[in-house]
Amino acid sequence: MKSFVEKWDELIDWDARATSEGDFFIDVLRSRGKHKILDVACGTGFHSVRLVEAGFDVTSVDGSAAMLSQAFENGKRRGLILKTVQSDWRWLNKDIQGKYDAIICLGNSFTHLHDESDRRRVLAEFYAALKHDGILILDQRNYDAILDDGFSSKHKYYYCGDQVTAEPEHMDEGLARFRYTFPDGSEYHLNMFPLRKKYTRRLIEEAGFQRIHSYGDFQETYQESDPDFYVHIAEKA
Ligand code: SAM
Repeated sequence: MKSFVEKWDELIDWDARATSEGDFFIDVLRSRGKHKILDVACGTGFHSVRLVEAGFDVTSVDGSAAMLSQAFENGKRRGLILKTVQSDWRWLNKDIQGKYDAIICLGNSFTHLHDESDRRRVLAEFYAALKHDGILILDQRNYDAILDDGFSSKHKYYYCGDQVTAEPEHMDEGLARFRYTFPDGSEYHLNMFPLRKKYTRRLIEEAGFQRIHSYGDFQETYQESDPDFYVHIAEKA
């Protein structure tokens, strides 16, 4: 049976994903003069590839060797050689060299840490891997909306038209369990930690970051319950 990731990568067409995201991250990084980027949750390489193609110097990190090799292959197919490093975020600075202008942690990846001590530790590792004026860009699903609005209003999230759907099947303050359904009828279940927006911001701040700007679905103004995703941009100085 194919893994969740293989199926996801097969169906979610990168061009469609790039269109829906626009140049948000490229613009943020360029406008702030950030060039040396650490993509800590590179997964199958979507953001790493986009940023390398846009001229950034990118190092791609993931804890999973399978993900990194898929990312490398995806890069190769586009004529790129990605610089990959296998590392668990909790020990990141043992595995990487030098300091970075920016760290990106995207695709709702931070939600995979289930212990608060790990979340704090990881943010401290991210902080240490940045230059004195570096920035951290971290996104997350808007769990507040699902936690606060009750089960009846928990909507299905559609990806790639109606090819893949994600539905919350269990939600409490300590666990967000989602069911992903693929066009062939196969289902996958993922357990995540339901990060409340305020909580994520507080943890980032307590790791030492000076200022945090939070965007909803790539917009600076949003109604609290509207966006599906938040993007936090945290400044070290
Ligand atoms: N950023 C990619 C995207 O948007 O397509 C991938 C997102 S995927 C949901 C999350 C990634 O984070 C996975 O590739 C997983 O291996 C990685 N990951 C989760 N916990 C990790 C950890 N503690 N250390 C390193 N990588 C981790």
